Amino acid sequence: MHLKDKQVSDLIEKEENRQIHVINLIASENYASKDVREAQSSFFINKYAEGYPKKRYYSGCEYIDEVENLAIERCKSLFNTKFVNVQPHSGSQANMAVYFGLLKPKDKILSLSLDHGGHLTHGSSVNFSGNLFNFKHYFLNDEGFLDYSKIDSIAKKFKPKLIIAGASSYSRFIDFKKFRDIADSVNAYLLSDISHISGLIASSLHPDAIKHSHIVTSTTHKTLRGPRGAVIMSDNEDIFKLVEKSIFPGIQGGPLENVIASKAISFKEASSESFKEYSRRVILNSKAFCEALTMRGFNIVSGGSDNHLFIVDLRNFEINGKEAQDILEKYSINVSRSLVPNDTEKPWITSGIRLGTPAVSSRYLKEREIEKIADYIFFIIKNNRNKFDESLKKEIEKFISQYPIPDYYE
Ligand SMILES: *Cc1c(COP(=O)(O)O)cnc(C)c1O
Repeated sequence: MHLKDKQVSDLIEKEENRQIHVINLIASENYASKDVREAQSSFFINKYAEGYPKKRYYSGCEYIDEVENLAIERCKSLFNTKFVNVQPHSGSQANMAVYFGLLKPKDKILSLSLDHGGHLTHGSSVNFSGNLFNFKHYFLNDEGFLDYSKIDSIAKKFKPKLIIAGASSYSRFIDFKKFRDIADSVNAYLLSDISHISGLIASSLHPDAIKHSHIVTSTTHKTLRGPRGAVIMSDNEDIFKLVEKSIFPGIQGGPLENVIASKAISFKEASSESFKEYSRRVILNSKAFCEALTMRGFNIVSGGSDNHLFIVDLRNFEINGKEAQDILEKYSINVSRSLVPNDTEKPWITSGIRLGTPAVSSRYLKEREIEKIADYIFFIIKNNRNKFDESLKKEIEKFISQYPIPDYYE
């Protein structure tokens, strides 16, 4: 990309170059197609379109309406759901809209604890959610799994108005049906936040959430491989209308129609057979990764993965999550540090790292390459007190740059 503004142009080029030469294991990142990227810099960027299709506060929205409706229809068919809102600027906004649409401040919400894999917007004290609503959390059991009977008994005592199923760092299948049964038994809404796993659900490789939930939120840029943004879905018209009003005019102004155009593209891409094949590869790679790391002495929270990610508990390697993230970054491997269940380190430090395979699978890496990466990680972490090895960094960059970041997926 060459822009007239040389300073910004240089930074874009540097970022592209960095992405090409880095093994990206950040579980929430991916490489969107060139179509998804380019639609965002189209003329749609210039248009104000407050409101919804056919109910806009501005004139000149005929093509905007068409593209937003196209995104909505494609999303409906991809996830087999009745009502879709494609306007949330991000996953955080989508969750905020659900809370504001269905609850009043100080209402009770039950969600997964942050240090066991929950998200900031699921009630963290440093987030609006934790400040405005009365959250209680459930936790993973000692084996690192969700414990539904425990969640049920917490719900019976706490009597929340909303229960959240969904996580940012949980490597196992989530049984949304069980969550719905619990929600029904205490007369609570069930919000399923499938931000991380929506690509796997769209590929029917993870148990469905939509038909079991009152309302569903998802980002579009994680396993779904679309633009940065989010969607809200529901099969219940009354609930959906409350949340739709909450997005606009409740918390957002003009929608990002250029991003909505990109969302439309990514929903079509995600409905292809090749995307299903991609999602299968993501999970196979994640399982292979867990095996390769376990063989090298690493402890995986819950012992493995059913999805695109997993958490490595580093406490037996005498290195904390932040140190591991930093040393791996020096060798051009990107991971995100992560709390582990019952972590005694602060969230800024942590005792683990979260690894994910969506990005490397988009570069068509397979088990053999994953095993090689596991070897690099083992070697770097084991020898982290040694002098920096420039030639190893060069080798890693050369290795990964053999797998181009695709412009198109077929
Ligand atoms: C990523 C994520 C979000 C928030 O998405 P942003 O677009 O970063 O605001 C919300 N919930 C969960 C579970 C997530 O993993």
